[in-house]
Amino acid sequence: MWENLDFGQAIEYAADPYASIRAWKNETGKKVVGSTLADVPEEVIYAFDILPVTLLGTHKPLRKAPSLLPDNACSLARSNLELALTYENDLFDGFVLPQVCDTTQHMCDIWRINFPDTYVESILLPRQVDRQSARYWVKEETMRLISSLSQWTGKSITPDDLKRSVAIHNENKRLLSELYQIKRRHPETITNKQLFSLLKLSMQVDKKELNESLKKIRDGLKSHSDGRNHVPVVLTGITCDPLEIFDLFDEIELNVVADTLVTGSRNLQGIVDEDKSDLVEALMERHFRRGFFSPIHDDVFKNVEALKALYKEYSAKAVVYVHIEFCESEEYDVPDLKVAMKKEGIPFHMLVTEYQTLSLSHVRTRLHAFFESLRESGR
Ligand code: SF4
Repeated sequence: MWENLDFGQAIEYAADPYASIRAWKNETGKKVVGSTLADVPEEVIYAFDILPVTLLGTHKPLRKAPSLLPDNACSLARSNLELALTYENDLFDGFVLPQVCDTTQHMCDIWRINFPDTYVESILLPRQVDRQSARYWVKEETMRLISSLSQWTGKSITPDDLKRSVAIHNENKRLLSELYQIKRRHPETITNKQLFSLLKLSMQVDKKELNESLKKIRDGLKSHSDGRNHVPVVLTGITCDPLEIFDLFDEIELNVVADTLVTGSRNLQGIVDEDKSDLVEALMERHFRRGFFSPIHDDVFKNVEALKALYKEYSAKAVVYVHIEFCESEEYDVPDLKVAMKKEGIPFHMLVTEYQTLSLSHVRTRLHAFFESLRESGR
């Protein structure tokens, strides 16, 4: 299904992967489990021969979610619930839902009530990772998830099942990192839209199949310009949606050389140490190696330090921040972030996105104006 994709098909599938997931499910007879962001150990789900799919919202109208979630719940949380309830309600056999912020606190119970005949499991991983107890907690939660999936499916997994799954997921992250590296140096060879579509799709379809496409895409890359006309930028936020935002970046010749998106580099940082004999321990350790993610963290300056470091390392000219409407976690961070970027003399541009609004005219105008003035100032 996904092993022979070129860039064009990958972009199409990334925009709406669900029809292809449904076809894959019918063909293979395997189960599909949806998860919201972030940090669900998908390797564990995959080891059970189940397809883990990260739910990344829908652009279709909200019909049921507004009566189930408060108006100020973030656009992503409302949109995900709508996607599962209305538009893809026959696709998912189960859900594994993390609690990452106040909005997602007990969200799992709302899903449980609304999907009474579906497997719904929660996973609660610590965000304050500097505590001694955090390591024990992550390992226990991972083992609890394994035992819950085992009870649901009536199957158990062997260390080899987990090893195979980890190897596929690691290979996916390595291949995507390789493509990212090529795009960073040669932005005319891989566009922002192409790379970030592949990154999104990799969180939603079978990685074993997608890895074949990634290898073919990598091996088929030809022209290598030096991207002299492109403006290198760092992208930050949780998600950058709709993917058409990347068309705007391509249009004005921005080159995303680094990012801290949960759906971008932060996902690629999730490589698990395959050589460890205890892979549950290795999965636990991965949780502590990942970079900054807005909701509740141990160090309030982590995002600022991460952005300063990336800006310097990749000689970027600006930081572009994508804010999901009503994401309260980001709303806590952003005033401090703006002040810090100003203090450091780092040009900073903020975009606000909302899953049900597809018109990007306001984003386009502001983005053009920001980068025009940046170019004129000779930076
Ligand atoms: S972190 Fe933000 S975007 Fe994610 S669920 Fe919480 S409020 Fe929504």
